[in-house]
Amino acid sequence: AAALRRYPAQAIVDLKAMRDNMAHLVAMVGGPASGTAVMGVVKADAYGHGLLPSALAALAGGATWLGTAQAHEALLLRQLGIGPDRCHILTWVYNGTEVPFDELIEADIDVSVGSLPGIDAVAAAARKVGKPARVHVKVDSGFGRNGFTPAGFDAALAKLVPLAKEGVIQIIGQWSHLAVADSPDVPEFVTSTDRQVETFKEFTQRMEHAGIAPQIRHLANTAATLSRPKIRFELCRPGIGLYGYEPDPAMGEPGDYRLKPAMRLQAQLGTVKDVEAGHGISYGRTYLTPDNTSTAIVPLGYADGIHRSASGFDMQGAKHVNKPGGPVRVMTVEGPRLYHVSGRVCMDQFILDLHGSAAELGVAEGDTVELFGPGRGEQFLEPTADDWARAADTISYEIFTCLRNRIPRLYE
Ligand code: PLP
Repeated sequence: AAALRRYPAQAIVDLKAMRDNMAHLVAMVGGPASGTAVMGVVKADAYGHGLLPSALAALAGGATWLGTAQAHEALLLRQLGIGPDRCHILTWVYNGTEVPFDELIEADIDVSVGSLPGIDAVAAAARKVGKPARVHVKVDSGFGRNGFTPAGFDAALAKLVPLAKEGVIQIIGQWSHLAVADSPDVPEFVTSTDRQVETFKEFTQRMEHAGIAPQIRHLANTAATLSRPKIRFELCRPGIGLYGYEPDPAMGEPGDYRLKPAMRLQAQLGTVKDVEAGHGISYGRTYLTPDNTSTAIVPLGYADGIHRSASGFDMQGAKHVNKPGGPVRVMTVEGPRLYHVSGRVCMDQFILDLHGSAAELGVAEGDTVELFGPGRGEQFLEPTADDWARAADTISYEIFTCLRNRIPRLYE
């Protein structure tokens, strides 16, 4: 408790919600007997939720794979005791010769190859370690990021086949990533995902024909895991679903997929004071109080990862559009009320116009307020990270991953 007083804000992470979300995703794909396993994607410090607790929650919920973008996080999971008897781990970002493939192979971590130099680097490391590398062949089925294109695949096969025959590498998987699976209602996007799936299957045939059939294929992110049962193959890779969010709020009403947001972001109010009508608020005076009112300071700012683009602007700022800032739930004597950031988000703080007298509302310094939580959206006075994403013109993923270490993660 003493340590907590050093921080003005906290992100409380509900590990049971995370475990339940994973159990729900595992059940959706048909459970362990279905032939489809589920990976908990825990890259980027588990989307800001904390790598190790989130990984353990995903495993407790039935995930049998963990995935990270960067090698160091995969290695950390093994170093922290999540051994190969417990789960498979795949890591995928390739940054030239800098990837420690030797350490990854030694730690029984699966690696992705999607370029010719990548194959060479993995093979060299496997020879050095004296142990076959467990390889997932990344194919570019239409995302345009990592992986071999259809045109470049013969050259890849020419390298992969002899290495597999020699036992330098083991072909475990074939995989790819979807570009627009989170918009299942947009017909041209459905067609585009269908095309990606077709291309993906053509790659499989070429691997089979070359004698290196993949043991498992994986393509589905959260969106596809939730909405496209036919393309779950042998493994699904949900990330945002583990943390309780649909990839795009347009996928349905919050809760449609029975996921529960795991993170609650709270802060303790700083100065609360009365100001007169026409008082300029924050940098640029983009917001002028319309009436006599009270203001309250929330001690979180862009140095904590609160997007400056979630600032609220008022018409009286003349040059600015009337745009509500990020929402904050404040308890008053009349029950919870929703306020929006007034004026610009600063480095360490932002300001709320309480639209009334703090004394009458019963709002005081030190009160705990909530920026987002497991609620069901602004209309129910419980903002979610999706509401902040809308205010900041981004996606929930960026809201979570931008939260800096200045905000302690507490687990319940
Ligand atoms: N697979 C890969 C390769 C990814 O990069 C990501 C995240 O961006 C995921 C799976 C998980 O995606 P989502 O969080 O949308 O489920």
